[in-house]
Amino acid sequence: MSKRSDKLKDYMGKRDFKKTPEPGQEEPALEWTSARPIFVIQKHDASALHYDFRIEVDGVLKSWAVPKGPSTDPGIKRLAVFTEDHLLEYADFEGTIPEGEYGGGTVLIWDRGSYHIVDQDTEDSGELSEQIEKGRIVIWLEGQKLRGGFALIRTGKGPKARWLLIKMKDEEASSDEDPVSTQPESVKSGRVIEQIRDDERDSD
Ligand code: MN
Repeated sequence: MSKRSDKLKDYMGKRDFKKTPEPGQEEPALEWTSARPIFVIQKHDASALHYDFRIEVDGVLKSWAVPKGPSTDPGIKRLAVFTEDHLLEYADFEGTIPEGEYGGGTVLIWDRGSYHIVDQDTEDSGELSEQIEKGRIVIWLEGQKLRGGFALIRTGKGPKARWLLIKMKDEEASSDEDPVSTQPESVKSGRVIEQIRDDERDSD
């Protein structure tokens, strides 16, 4: 088994591709950008609403579920739960996963773009995958809604480990804005979550 399919075993194992519209194999994708690596934030109206924060690392999307979504205020720390790696093609997925399937609910592409690693103080911080292993990354997002530095920092150990998503203090930081509530629409289709859900219901 290749390293990539090894990483995606959890993703593939949790889904029945006869029932879910989510991507299950490689397809031409990411036509919206030539800048790499990419990030995507998907608003996911599942049993509990959350925002899936995904970044391209070594051919897959490293993923965190952020219940309240990202904040542009450096004073606010947002809980982020590390979840299974997703296919790179997942960055293009917007639609409704049937009820009863894993992750059942509606997915909206809330933001997307490219990112780069922000140099950390330590000289030997290494590749991003190593930094994730060590529990601390800082990346600069070039999205349509979010820009600037964001840190993901692991706290605690073992199965109780949690991550925090925190806006860095830079010229893109703002404590007056709250894009999660003021810009709810999809950057792919312009739709809000209810429209995506209703569109798919109508097409049944
Ligand atoms: Mn999700």
